[in-house]
Amino acid sequence: MEVASRAELVRDALDRVGVDLLVVTKPANVRWLTGFTGSNGQLVVTADELIAITDGRYREQIAAELDASGVTATVEVTTTEVGDILARAAPSGARLGLESQHVTWKQHDQFAAWLPGRELVAVDSLLEELRKTKDPGERSRLERAAAMADGALSRAVGELGNRPTERDIAQQLDATMIELGADEPSYDTIVASGPNAALPHAHPTRRVIEGDDLVIIDVGARLDGYGSDMTRTFVAGGDPSGEQQRLYDAVIEAQAAGVEAVADGVEERHIDDVCRSVLGDHGLLDAFIHGTGHGIGLEIHEEPILSPRSTGILRTGLVVTVEPGVYLSERGGVRIEDSVVVTDDGCEPITHSPKRVVP
Ligand code: ZN
Ligand code: ZN
Repeated sequence: MEVASRAELVRDALDRVGVDLLVVTKPANVRWLTGFTGSNGQLVVTADELIAITDGRYREQIAAELDASGVTATVEVTTTEVGDILARAAPSGARLGLESQHVTWKQHDQFAAWLPGRELVAVDSLLEELRKTKDPGERSRLERAAAMADGALSRAVGELGNRPTERDIAQQLDATMIELGADEPSYDTIVASGPNAALPHAHPTRRVIEGDDLVIIDVGARLDGYGSDMTRTFVAGGDPSGEQQRLYDAVIEAQAAGVEAVADGVEERHIDDVCRSVLGDHGLLDAFIHGTGHGIGLEIHEEPILSPRSTGILRTGLVVTVEPGVYLSERGGVRIEDSVVVTDDGCEPITHSPKRVVP
């Protein structure tokens, strides 16, 4: 029943954002509101109706998925007449909201051509704001997905000292997560060794992992739409150099301080400040070249973003990552990332793999 109650949350917000009805086109938002997973779905949320529009390929799927979610909606299956359906839902003079982050300029012009006499209003992040707070069903999916990635990593680390390639490890992680019940990896698994570890979003290559390499492993599982996210770093042969240990300890300290700072009511920007200031104390500020974290859920990077530019406040029930890292060109890098659920007085991690430089 959690999915079924969400259209009401949108309905309650229509007035606040200055529209009479909202057209939802972003797939993750369509799924969050109705459970529908097809590639072509549009929703119209009005004061008293929910209309779900798709094409003939999804006639049976949309009925089954809405039913499974307990969602009551008027289903319209069409290939050509979306404009007519929208025109019926939006009487002349109506203010019709479109998702500004998802509707292209071209699509906007199409809506305008379909709907003369209506006012088109750009609605920014309404669904994304609502999606930030995870309900118990969403949290449970994220926790179970995270446990699958934990399980896969615990098996893969035993191989790191045996001169595997980055791809060997990535493939093993992906296969183990699926064996443990995941639908798929929640993003392209990162295994970045040696100089490749200096690239935050490196793709696994056929490079052989040597014993003295730093290896960044960023891995998550997707379960029922919800994707986990975690990063650990190791020295493959288990014998870190002085510099490797220094980088590792600095990132561990920054990450722990960031996690410690997470709680209901804390400014999102503060978590980024805390991590950056610890790394600054270690002379590594310039080596931290990305934001500190992000929300997870139906999308792997979703609201809120924890960065120097963040303006929001953390609230109980949000699930965010805390993932400071340092990257030194040619020499490698270290990143440690946990996903945590924000609580009234702190947070609870949902990723539990041990943090240790020795695999
Ligand atoms: Zn990650
Ligand atoms: Zn992340």
